[in-house]
Amino acid sequence: MADNHRQPEVNIGLVGHVDHGKTTLVRALSGEWTDQHSEEMKRGISIRLGYADATLRRCPDCEEPECYTVAEECPEHGTETEVLRTVSFVDAPGHETLMATMLSGAAIMDGAVLVVSANEPVPQPQTEEHLMALDIIGIDNIVIAQNKVDLVDGEQARQNYEEIQEFVEGTVAEGAPIVPISAEQEINIDLVIDALESEIPTPDRDPEADPRMYVARSFDINRPGTTWDGLLGGVLGGSLVQGELDVDEDIELRPGREVEEGGKTEWRSVTTTVRSLQAGGEDVDAASPGGLLGVGTGLDPSLTKGDALAGQVAGPPETLPPTWDSFTMDVDLLERLVGAEEGDTIDEITTGEPLMLTVGTATTVGSVTSARDGECDVQLKRPVCAPEGSKIAINRRVGARWRLIGVGTLTE
Ligand code: GDP
Ligand code: MG
Repeated sequence: MADNHRQPEVNIGLVGHVDHGKTTLVRALSGEWTDQHSEEMKRGISIRLGYADATLRRCPDCEEPECYTVAEECPEHGTETEVLRTVSFVDAPGHETLMATMLSGAAIMDGAVLVVSANEPVPQPQTEEHLMALDIIGIDNIVIAQNKVDLVDGEQARQNYEEIQEFVEGTVAEGAPIVPISAEQEINIDLVIDALESEIPTPDRDPEADPRMYVARSFDINRPGTTWDGLLGGVLGGSLVQGELDVDEDIELRPGREVEEGGKTEWRSVTTTVRSLQAGGEDVDAASPGGLLGVGTGLDPSLTKGDALAGQVAGPPETLPPTWDSFTMDVDLLERLVGAEEGDTIDEITTGEPLMLTVGTATTVGSVTSARDGECDVQLKRPVCAPEGSKIAINRRVGARWRLIGVGTLTE
């Protein structure tokens, strides 16, 4: 069983409209249902971003593509299958109000599967919105799963296939393979694995780079009433985007915590030690990029309670990007609101308006202090830690909800 506990080496996002079959496909590939996990930590993360690991394999005795499987034993030959690699699926929720979650999840995706239902017109609103988000974040290793082909006849399937092709033309998904599948009936899952292997390679990682972790969640894992001598330190959940993290290593977190001094509040980074690491469902001494990481720290658990540190960045002291209370960004607005009627254009950003900004895994509200042609200055409600040049997803309040209106680049 050791093979099932390999640490995942790549994060693959599942995106697309609600009910198109993302979670069902993850289950077919991993045997896990991302919507419900037993352990406290995993459960907590799956509410915001469902994670499931899968080890992709091939049977040495089968032809391509039938050889691709997740089974340890080939159902055809009874042969033990060979491990290709372990991947981690990030199952973003399709519900439109959780777009910010999808965007912060995209910060840790190395590639994505866009799931499109074969029995509905293309595109549905979040099919378009999620594809736009991939475009903005620059995720161009994409596989398209044309799902629920069991519900349509051959002619409808062909027509839907062409609609998908037309829809992705000129986008980041142009030329991506479109694989007709039934996630529920596990039809053509071998073709999906084949496509994942060829389209979403494990990125080249520099093992010498300083480790950097994007924190997506944080917890206090102590039971109520635990006395101080039995108290465990705060836990961080997230993903390494570079480098290798070791137990006993010192880490800094930015922006850190808000401190009040002499009637003034400011954010100060916090430093702590890595006490334990959990990756691929196991305790490990060292972790590398890919998959979900649980980091036990020496932090006061009251600091990590209830996701208080979500959106922060962790790494060795003095190696992290700067913290910004305000910044200037170059702005590139979309041509029109995603999913809106033809001609529903996007107005320029104006001074004084509030924006919701996603930078890395951080989401914060910013107030525009000066809007100029193609750029604006924003004052953030909560600071963010990010390198200059970072991509920023810009959302504006339209009616009752935040809508994606464009992409920014952090300039200074
Ligand atoms: P998500 O919102 O994209 O995660 O969608 P789910 O995976 O939760 O699936 C939504 C519904 O579609 C569920 O009732 C599934 O059982 C059903 N479903 C998913 N894949 C298929 C498929 O390939 N064929 C059919 N007939 N139903 C499917
Ligand atoms: Mg789902």
